[in-house]
Amino acid sequence: MELSDAEIERYSRQIVMDEIGFEGQQKLKNARVTVIGVGGLGSPITQQLVAMGIGTVRIVDRDVVEISNLHRQVLYGDEDVGLSKAEAAHDRLKRINPKVMIEPLTLSINDDTVDEAINNSDVVIDGLDSVSARYSINRACVRLKIPYIFGSAIVTTGSSTSIIPGKTPCLECFQPALKDDEMPKCGTEGVHPAILTTVSSVQVSEAIRIIIGKEPNLANKLFLADVANLDYDKVKIIKQLKCNVCGPDADLTIKKSKRKLIEDICGREGKSVHIISPKENLEINLDKLNNILENDNLEIIRKGELGTTLNYNEKITVSIVTSGVSIIVGALEEKRALEIFSEIIINKLKINPEKVHNEFQKLLKVN
Ligand SMILES: [Zn+2]
Repeated sequence: MELSDAEIERYSRQIVMDEIGFEGQQKLKNARVTVIGVGGLGSPITQQLVAMGIGTVRIVDRDVVEISNLHRQVLYGDEDVGLSKAEAAHDRLKRINPKVMIEPLTLSINDDTVDEAINNSDVVIDGLDSVSARYSINRACVRLKIPYIFGSAIVTTGSSTSIIPGKTPCLECFQPALKDDEMPKCGTEGVHPAILTTVSSVQVSEAIRIIIGKEPNLANKLFLADVANLDYDKVKIIKQLKCNVCGPDADLTIKKSKRKLIEDICGREGKSVHIISPKENLEINLDKLNNILENDNLEIIRKGELGTTLNYNEKITVSIVTSGVSIIVGALEEKRALEIFSEIIINKLKINPEKVHNEFQKLLKVN
């Protein structure tokens, strides 16, 4: 598709630069970029991509906006608390640039869902905070040969690299065998908004270079930054011959994932938080869900296009997004969280438990 006169005017300050140019701007218009996670990194990443005129930006996030996000997740304001991030981000990004196509998805990323999240993308950009989800993205991007821009940040430090399948080291070449339970968490360690804008800007400039057909600056290199002392560096990283993702003996056939149905994540304002991620996208009909909840006199505190948040009782809040991912705050125990999920999703909405987990009923008893 050609650029219109209005687009040439809108993007004139970047078209005039050699780094992008007229042809480059056309390539941006015809590109689809997927950003996984619209939190601390994903907010400034999507803001820049959309303002710059990427044709289609897909945003994938299972979470809902909470008050402790607002100091760094610049897409959201007070009025968005309780809304699905994919929805709130979609609405905000449409206001920045209505011409850009935004594809919001409320999926939780794992080996079962990752293909749906990234298919038909020209570039995938990482705005995640979980290593297991990153490993799923890395494997799928290597298998589907999609460039993947890694980025991470915690406290005042951050890093980024551009993973080009078949050419550069992959994530597991330089960060193998990490476990989420052992990683520092921003909920307890904190994160400086300035490191997020630093790393996200590096990721965007790399993605733009790849779309335009230029060599990425971070192929085979890891960018490292610390805003506490303004140390910036690039270090060489190398492909591991024995890498089980990109090495010659790697087996990338899709395996049934052994992931957990329920995760106990670090608390919000001292409350327990459980996230339940069904195996499949449950494509919940929210009108139906809201009607059932209202008939049962449950108090809905936030109704959105992509999710609903309700007070289950005075201590427990439940957010359900369209994919079926449910975030249960205040349940204290996994068993209790699973029971509440089962009551709403299986009993009230009549969803087949097999779609949630192969052995859902058994898990319910064990927990
Ligand atoms: Zn590798």
